[in-house]
Amino acid sequence: MRSDDAKPDYDVVVVGAGLGGIYAVSRFIADGLSVLGIEGGQDVGGVWLHNRYPGARVDVESYFYSYFSPELYGEWEWEERYPTQPEILRYLNFAAERLQVRPHFRFSTWMTGATWDPSNGMYSVTTDTGLAVTARYLVMTSGQLSKPRKPRFEGIDDFEGEWYQTSAWPDRDVSFTGKRVAIIGTGSSGVQTVPVIAQQADQVYVFQRTANYVIPAANGRLDRARYNAIAADLDTTWQRMLDHPGGALSPLPTSSAFELSGEERKRVLDERWAYGGHAMNAVFTDQATDLASNTFVSDYVRGKVHELVHDPVTAQKLTPTEYPIGSRRLCVCSGYYESFNRDNVELVDAKADPIVRITPRGIRTASRDIEVDIIVFAIGFDAFTGALDAANITNEHGEHPSSHWSRGPRTYLGLMTTGFPNLFIITGPGSPSVLINFFPANVQHINFVADLLASMKARGHTRVEPEPAAEDEWTAHVATVASKLLRLGVENYMVHVNHDDGSRVFIPYAGGLPAYIDLCDAVVASGYEGFTFSGGNAWVDEDSQSLSARI
Ligand code: NAP
Repeated sequence: MRSDDAKPDYDVVVVGAGLGGIYAVSRFIADGLSVLGIEGGQDVGGVWLHNRYPGARVDVESYFYSYFSPELYGEWEWEERYPTQPEILRYLNFAAERLQVRPHFRFSTWMTGATWDPSNGMYSVTTDTGLAVTARYLVMTSGQLSKPRKPRFEGIDDFEGEWYQTSAWPDRDVSFTGKRVAIIGTGSSGVQTVPVIAQQADQVYVFQRTANYVIPAANGRLDRARYNAIAADLDTTWQRMLDHPGGALSPLPTSSAFELSGEERKRVLDERWAYGGHAMNAVFTDQATDLASNTFVSDYVRGKVHELVHDPVTAQKLTPTEYPIGSRRLCVCSGYYESFNRDNVELVDAKADPIVRITPRGIRTASRDIEVDIIVFAIGFDAFTGALDAANITNEHGEHPSSHWSRGPRTYLGLMTTGFPNLFIITGPGSPSVLINFFPANVQHINFVADLLASMKARGHTRVEPEPAAEDEWTAHVATVASKLLRLGVENYMVHVNHDDGSRVFIPYAGGLPAYIDLCDAVVASGYEGFTFSGGNAWVDEDSQSLSARI
């Protein structure tokens, strides 16, 4: 016997106050829903609140790393082409202020659990502050790269110096002046922090396990005329972003590597290198799927490493040889390779000479003891499932959303998973997620969910769940789209590997934003095919505001 007549405390609980959570709360409020936002940090910002390490900045151009509403776009002034973490945090604070979402959030409040009660169709949400509420819908804007991976090095507790994580950097100045510093990890975070810390510290040891391709950002002042031109016609640029596979208007390839002469290939490679950043992932149409095409790009960047790094032995160690370019996430940073020309920076090859343990005075590798005063761990995140699992969401069988993901994530449209009615995972596995600009990704998903809830409200439904067949079909489609990618064969956080039979599952949807949006639109046009609706007619607020009242 079940009844959805009882009213929950809130229509929607939104978890996380990053760029997705801010938009979600504002959109649901505009739609007339009662909303509670829960955020563990002391304020808005999400990963940009916690990843405040020296050198942190985004690798999406600021023209497109924005909400596209007139009151936000026109009134904000980005300083640089690629904004720094402090600038992004200021922007998100500005957006939260303008959208008036802060009063709807409880900050410094970590969600400790949410249990689906099938008898009344609600989630009972608990937190570490004792706050406990019920909600009809649970919307996770908690991020895919937000749960820091814990440094699990033997001896870490005995270290007598200071240690920090890039992903959970303290909200205070950390002085490196006169210090010997170890930086462990050379992914996007590690390579950004090396050049900045190197300018302050006495000595820096960079522990590299796998060499990454690091592309200069070609950062600079924002082109204000370009920004103003976009601001003057936001809808046109927004639509172009939705029509772009990456959700930002970086250049796209137009030719296969093999349609071009050697001279033409060199010209395009030079152009992309000069453009900077992720443009290097888009030199040739076939570089993501054809190893020979990809090798033109990989070799070009390998050559640049040798041009930029004076010492040939260090240059060789920094040169990525184990995988094709773009098959792990490209790192974007200016000045990384040049840092190794400084007398106070040493590269430690943590593959040839692995870290054995942390000692009270530093780091012991297989061959030596390195004394340091500070260790910076830039070792990444529990990607995709970290924040979701930490939220401790259970259904009536005691299962978590990822309980049936042991052979890779399974979702419908990357938004919902079977067994968890009314739970929405924003930018989740099976959506374009980490492959694209998070601004259009979040806004598109949240608009989809908000429209879905509005249509349910109009029809008097209070429960929605994906059909198992729809989830199977979507999961198979995500796999098909990724099947030819070189990156499917390479170890990285976007690939789930089943170690018993060696099968591999690419986690995000690799078909690009326009294809994804087309599929979502087709689902809406079909009357939400693939979703099952049921439930009663109990909503907290009876009056729905116009759906057009959105950002
Ligand atoms: P990451 O890409 O996962 O890199 C982690 C690094 O730590 C890798 O170099 C890894 O080596 C190393 N590592 C991990 N465990 C280690 C161990 N036990 N010993 C030695 N080395 C170890 O993490 P991230 O740099 O924080 O970046 C994660 C993601 O966040 C990025 O891919 C990106 O999506 C996002 N991000 C974006 C920006 C930006 O927009 N510019 C900036 C920062 C982060 P292996 O490679 O050998 O595993």
